[in-house]
Amino acid sequence: MGGTFDPIHHGHLVAASEVQAWFDLDEVVFVPTGDPWQKSDRVVTPAEHRYLMTVIATASNPRFTVSRVDIDRRGPTYTIDTLRDLHTQLPDAELYFITGADALADIFTWRHPEELFALAQFVGCTRPGYTMDDATLGAIPADRVTMVEIPALAISSTDCRERTRRGEPVWYLVPDGVVQYIAKHHLYPKDQS
Ligand code: ATP
Ligand code: MG
Repeated sequence: MGGTFDPIHHGHLVAASEVQAWFDLDEVVFVPTGDPWQKSDRVVTPAEHRYLMTVIATASNPRFTVSRVDIDRRGPTYTIDTLRDLHTQLPDAELYFITGADALADIFTWRHPEELFALAQFVGCTRPGYTMDDATLGAIPADRVTMVEIPALAISSTDCRERTRRGEPVWYLVPDGVVQYIAKHHLYPKDQS
């Protein structure tokens, strides 16, 4: 499951848990992005903080792990590189790339769509307030993509960052350890947006 995870929240964790159960996956590997090229319009928290918050959030689940492939690779993150690296590390694994339906809609702006579909099955998680247009859905190869409806959790990282900047709580939106990590490292300060 790829994401910026700035910060990771219960929407991500519920989505991962649902998809794990749905496909009976052995493991869900969370892959925090390196330099996210889709988000060049805002300051993204250093990868090491995002990585550690993801480790904290997933530590208690024996089926959840975190991969550093994207943060250790130089340059912007492209999904094709993520999948190639994971395939090299886990040559026998059948890969499922889990992402939000919103991100899936951008798939044709991603590099090498044919190779992407050859390397992995794609799982698009629907999230509250998002409906995919028919043109996008129709363009996606039906045998390589599954849409999974996730219980509506109207949580986004953007909202968690803004709440923290306004001094409002993020308790129960993100795991307890992540609330404490954000406070300890003064992430999302008032004067930075
Ligand atoms: P931001 O608000 O900064 O864009 P985000 O909450 O969308 O952050 P990302 O790290 O961009 O978090 O998310 C990684 C993936 O998880 C995305 O593909 C996104 O669509 C999906 N996702 C995020 N929040 C939810 C949610 N509440 N339910 C289901 N999927 C979600
Ligand atoms: Mg997002």
